Amino acid sequence: MNHVVVVGAGLAGVRTVEALRGRGFTGRITLIGQERHRPYDRPPLSKAVLKGEADTSFVDTDLETLGVEFWPGVGAKSLRAGVVETTEGEVAYDGLVIATGADPIRLPGDGPQHVLRTLDDAHELRAMLVPGARVAIIGAGWIGAEVATAARRAGCEVTVVESASAPLSTAVGAELGGRTLSWYDGIDLRLGTMVDSVDEGGVRLVGGEFVEAHVVVTGIGVRPAVEWLADADIDLHNGVVTDEHLRTSLPGVVAVGDCAAWWSRRWRTRLRVEHWDTALNAPEVAAATLLGEEAVYDPVPYFWSEQFGHMLQYAGHHPAGDRLVHRGEPEGKWSAVWLAGDGTLAAVLAVDRPRDLVQGRRIIDAGSRLDPERLVDPQVPLRDC
Ligand code: FAD
Repeated sequence: MNHVVVVGAGLAGVRTVEALRGRGFTGRITLIGQERHRPYDRPPLSKAVLKGEADTSFVDTDLETLGVEFWPGVGAKSLRAGVVETTEGEVAYDGLVIATGADPIRLPGDGPQHVLRTLDDAHELRAMLVPGARVAIIGAGWIGAEVATAARRAGCEVTVVESASAPLSTAVGAELGGRTLSWYDGIDLRLGTMVDSVDEGGVRLVGGEFVEAHVVVTGIGVRPAVEWLADADIDLHNGVVTDEHLRTSLPGVVAVGDCAAWWSRRWRTRLRVEHWDTALNAPEVAAATLLGEEAVYDPVPYFWSEQFGHMLQYAGHHPAGDRLVHRGEPEGKWSAVWLAGDGTLAAVLAVDRPRDLVQGRRIIDAGSRLDPERLVDPQVPLRDC
């Protein structure tokens, strides 16, 4: 293989470049990214950068030393066998890495609507979070909660509009999401409320009510950024479909990060995980596969969020129907675990209890069974349950 093209210069893209070089690939590498920045981490955007504690979050890597041809500000437009068409012309490849991440979903309406995906988005939004500004945040998921944290801290008047009956419902369910309600003190939290459109001066709700706002932030989720592949002869279904080696349906092409829906041996289903840990670690497997080595991606997915002074950490994957067991009361530090039908641990959510997370992740990996009677006592370490 002489020339590997990596499309998408986010964490997954740059980590794949590093992994290729780390595995001894000496051929040509071209890294194509439509943003004008060099690769950076996104988690700090809704935390340190939005709070004004940091201006950038560049990945600590040296593209020059890695011998990479970096094309910033260049978008891939389409793909046919062996050739990527970009906004700057065609580029031929022997191996291709698809690492184009995900794009935020926007709502209908002509009013100004902010999303938070890029460094530029974060800078733009940060400048608007000033004392007294009326900020309407649509969605009380991970991004919405983190933006609400920063906006309240900046002295804004914050309204959060959420269609579900509790924050974080999509990710962890209404029962656990409801345990975070008290964190929204001082915020006008509208649950079970649908937005009709984002208009000039605020948000129109279904039913007609208008929520006035100087700043509207839409945080209702993302879609895999695969539009450029629409006419390509490659399997797409909720992202780029891959096997457990991150191999796509096209020869010599792997996909990795937020855009990849890989086959999980562990859960016997396809997973697409929009989290940093996947973008960090899956590239080792993508690079190995591209170089013809045997490697399988089969992690216990991990994610964290920092909101309202709390650290939330989640590991695993819980299909609907798994049994939920609480450990501790919502007023303090607590966690919850999902048990599969056979008594093994499927997933853990830890709130300010990092030990439960670390131990839970190991237990999930090992496939051990836990005793529900002991689990309910938060004093008993998870590893002793
Ligand atoms: P991306 O980081 O999206 O990178 C993909 C790159 O490809 C982008 O730069 C994009 O512009 C580029 N691209 C797209 N299409 C094209 C094209 N056609 N041609 C060329 N380039 C293209 N995860 C956690 O686990 N914990 C957190 O606390 C957390 N916080 C987050 C906070 C924010 C604000 C955001 C946005 C994400 C957060 N995440 C968090 C998620 C995590 O950052 C992502 O999972 C991770 O960035 C995915 O990396 P990626 O490289 O797959 O995709």
